[in-house]
Amino acid sequence: MADSPTRIATMLASAGCSADSETGALTPPVHFSTTFERAEDGSWPGGHVYARDSNPTRALFESTLAQLEGGGACAAFSSGMAASNALIMALCAGGHVVLPNDVYHGVRHLAHTVWRQWGLEITAVDYADDWTGAIRKNTKLIWIESPSNPLVQITDVEAVCGEAASRGIPTVVDSTWNTPVLMQPLRWGATFVLHSTTKYLGGHSDVLGGAVVAADPDGPYEAVRQVQKQAGAVMGPFAAWLTLRGLRSLGARMDLHCRNAAHVADFLEAHPAVSRVHYPGLPHQTGHEVARRQMHAFGGMLSFEVPGARQAAMAVAARMRTFRRATSLGGTESLVEHRASIEPEPPTSPEGLLRLSVGLEHIDDLLADLDQALAP
Ligand code: PLP
Repeated sequence: MADSPTRIATMLASAGCSADSETGALTPPVHFSTTFERAEDGSWPGGHVYARDSNPTRALFESTLAQLEGGGACAAFSSGMAASNALIMALCAGGHVVLPNDVYHGVRHLAHTVWRQWGLEITAVDYADDWTGAIRKNTKLIWIESPSNPLVQITDVEAVCGEAASRGIPTVVDSTWNTPVLMQPLRWGATFVLHSTTKYLGGHSDVLGGAVVAADPDGPYEAVRQVQKQAGAVMGPFAAWLTLRGLRSLGARMDLHCRNAAHVADFLEAHPAVSRVHYPGLPHQTGHEVARRQMHAFGGMLSFEVPGARQAAMAVAARMRTFRRATSLGGTESLVEHRASIEPEPPTSPEGLLRLSVGLEHIDDLLADLDQALAP
């Protein structure tokens, strides 16, 4: 298992907090102001001009996440998809991108319905494929999602990013499922880390957001920052404040998400009504050894398959009580989702697959719920 990043638990416990010199307040305020006063000499002494460019609460969230990822800069957006879109707009004009087949379906859909219309060429690769074989002369970005969504496939981030860097091609790792607690992709050579902060970072299923963290605050990041402030899909101040608050319990939450998910994976693995379990912590999972090397723990997400395709999987989900039937992930509550029926046509997930976001409930209640739902 990779070494724990320096004091990440300690950094998280007081993320974004420093005593206010005027009031002594330990936690940060929310700055809702959209505009900031100029001094008589025409300068902006507080460093902020207009809230689309920058806002103190968003800036605090951005610098905090950059530090947690070991990066040099961060741009926060109104959603994970806005962050994804900004990366492509900033880096890929007139070019080609390598995308995994089992990428988050929203990214695949946006790529094929919108980015393609703007002339983007796309090569989809399987995790087992030779990624570097997909690189072309005009490749502008390699997109990695590890573990992938929902098949939990693992990419060797160091190997792919190293090869891409040797050819001068930037890489992005969608690390939504990991958070900096489980993996810091910049340490493995990625150029950018992408987050849907809607998930574990916010952590309570009540705030939408996204972020791009860059290893280098100059270079290609500058174009991402320009798209952020000019196109304006920025994270609002209240969302930034809520997400900062989420960060402060992230270490403890991830610990329990991971422990509960590992128990659930073992339980499902041994269950006669389950045909397949996808979880990076299972020794038979392809990529398990790579996951062990590049992640600090195996995460709170898994999926499993039941024989009998869509009808059987839907019937299992319908019987669940503690696991709530809803999309999304990373909240305190456990969720179950029949993935193929929420993906745009044609779905790529197996019809008999259910994805679980394992929450913070008592493990006995989670296992009892699964047991009764899987009973014939
Ligand atoms: N990346 C991953 C792995 C996701 O699961 C999601 C959303 O489910 C996104 C990106 C997009 O994030 P958002 O819903 O915040 O736009």
